[in-house]
Parts: sequence; C-alpha cells; structure tokens
Amino acid sequence: MSKRVVLIGHPVAHSLSGAMQQAAFDALGIDAKYELWDKAPIALADAIAEVRGDDFLGVNITIPHKERVVPMIDRLTEEALATGAVNTLTREGKRLVGHNTDVPGFAAALDKLVGRQKMPRQAVVLGAGGGARAVVYGLIRAGFLRIVVFNRHLHRAEGLVRHFGKSAAHMDLRAMPWHESIIESELAKTKVLINATSIGLNADVSPIPGEVITGDLLVLDLIYKRTRLLRDAESNGAHAMDGETMLLHQGAAAFTLWTGQPAPLDVMSQALADARAGGLRSAEGEPAGDAEAAVPEAASPAG
Ligand code: NDP
Repeated sequence: MSKRVVLIGHPVAHSLSGAMQQAAFDALGIDAKYELWDKAPIALADAIAEVRGDDFLGVNITIPHKERVVPMIDRLTEEALATGAVNTLTREGKRLVGHNTDVPGFAAALDKLVGRQKMPRQAVVLGAGGGARAVVYGLIRAGFLRIVVFNRHLHRAEGLVRHFGKSAAHMDLRAMPWHESIIESELAKTKVLINATSIGLNADVSPIPGEVITGDLLVLDLIYKRTRLLRDAESNGAHAMDGETMLLHQGAAAFTLWTGQPAPLDVMSQALADARAGGLRSAEGEPAGDAEAAVPEAASPAG
C-alpha cells in the first residue's frame, strides 16, 4: 500500500516541499505520496488525529501551526522541546513524535553563510515566529554571545527570549522594539543579520531600509528567493544568502527521519530549482493573510 506524507499548513498551495519530497521518494523507489493539506487552526487537532493512522509515513508542519501543534504531540525531541516549535512528525505506532528539522537546516545555512571566516559572536534577528526560534537556538548552539531579536509585536519576541531563558543564561539574548534607529544602531555592532519575518515573500519590499546594511555584514534571508533585502545587502558590499540551503537541509533531515535513508540532496535541489522556475515561490507555504499588508509601525518596509 502506498504510504502518505502530508504537509499541514494554512495556506499551503505554493509550498515547494511537495516537489522536493516527491522527487526524493520517486528517485529512491519509495512508494509514498506527498500531499498538501490546507488546514485552518480550528481544523488542526482533527488533522493531527487523522495522521496517527497506519497509512501515514510522516508529516510536515508549517505556517502558522509550528508552535500551536506542540501540545498535540506525544513526544518531543530535544530540538523541538528547546525551540518550542515542531515542523516534522514521525509515528511510533499510534504515538506521534515531534521534531524540528529547521534546526539542522539553519545550521547548514549558517555554516555556508560564514564560510571559512571565524564564527561571529553577535547577530540581529528580525522576526520571532517558528522559523526565528530555530534560528535563535542555532545561533546559541553555534556559540553566539549576543543576539538581539526585533519583532513587529514586541511581546512575541519577549516570549521567545523567555523561552530560551535557561539555554541563553550565559549570554546576552534580548528583545527590542522595532524602531529603525534602534535596528540601525544594533546593526552597527553586529556581524550577522537574519531575516526570519515573511516580509519580502509576497512583494518586493524589505523589512529595513537598504542604507542601514553595512558592507561587512553577513545577511541571511530565510525566504527562498532573491529578496529586496538581499539585493540591497549585495549592492552595499555585504555577503547575502537566501533560504535555499535551510529549506533543502530541513527537508533532507525530515526525509531521513521518515524513511531511514540518506536523502538524495542533488535530486531534491534540482526539484526545488524546477519548481521555482515553474512559479512556486514559498519556502514552506505562505503566511495566512497578506504579509505585506501591515508593517512595523516605526519602520515601513523599504519598498
Ligand atoms: P510565522 O508565521 O511563525 O512568523 C512570521 C514572522 O513574520 C513573525 O515574526 C511576524 O511578526 C513577521 N511578519 C509577518 N508579516 C509581517 C509584516 N507585515 N510586518 C512585520 N512583521 C511581519 O512564520 P515562520 O517563522 O514559520 O516563517 C517566517 C518566514 O521564514 C517565512 O517567510 C518562511 O517561509 C521562512 N522560513 C523559511 C525556512 C526555510 O527552510 N528556508 C524555514 C522556516 C521559515 P509578528 O509576530 O509581529 O506577526
């Protein structure tokens, strides 16, 4: 019997994960079909009950459910517990195990971003959602000593900082209000800038004005395309990278968890490129509502 793997999100229609995972199953002769399930938050609990069935090999969880799904899961891995966010499920009989493969995905992206340089110690993170949690955890594990998180809704960034209280006890992790002048002054003191907001996903706008990006910054945008932020960073001489590496490696880690086999990275990477050329554009679904409709009050996207 063909096995089922599903992506649960809202919405999911533009996700690249289906193309990437189906190509991997087909290449390795695994009889599995990857399905996209668009489930609003109210339908999440029923969807989670359904995937406990024997025909399911595994699940991906995406926007906006990564944090909400946590209490519905029977067991969490260390990375899911540490981040408070789950993006992959495996089954142990009828029990569900929650993993966070954004963590190894981000670690691969950070290594590539930094290259042969010494690992920096300071970072600015824009955003405080599920993706940002994997980013902050990855930065703490990589030895960063100061991380400043800016978010449109400050309370969410403060919640993130509280969540990491223990693992960040030895370093300076703080939330700051989204004001252009504060972001600019923090960027002047930092080496790494990561965009973990969805600003730039649906429209050609940047979360911050181009002129505050200095040439010595390493800039990573989790969004899988050449965003305005990345173009601004490059034109100022900064080193800039999109979310492709993170997407590929979180998907590869999920594939291995479901199948027990090494992921065919070349096949998955090619499938991503083909899907992107065919018009699919989201790393993992798209935020419910228009990500560009409302912007931080004190800092309109440079558009
Ligand atoms: P969430 O829905 O959990 O978080 C969205 C974040 O974006 C929040 O910080 C939110 O701020 C912010 N945001 C959204 N719209 C606006 C706006 N108009 N103005 C200011 N801030 C805004 O999503 P995720 O964390 O899961 O994903 C965030 C982005 O990262 C997405 O683009 C996603 O595709 C990408 N991503 C990529 C991955 C990859 O593998 N490459 C992996 C994970 C994520 P607020 O809290 O104030 O609403």
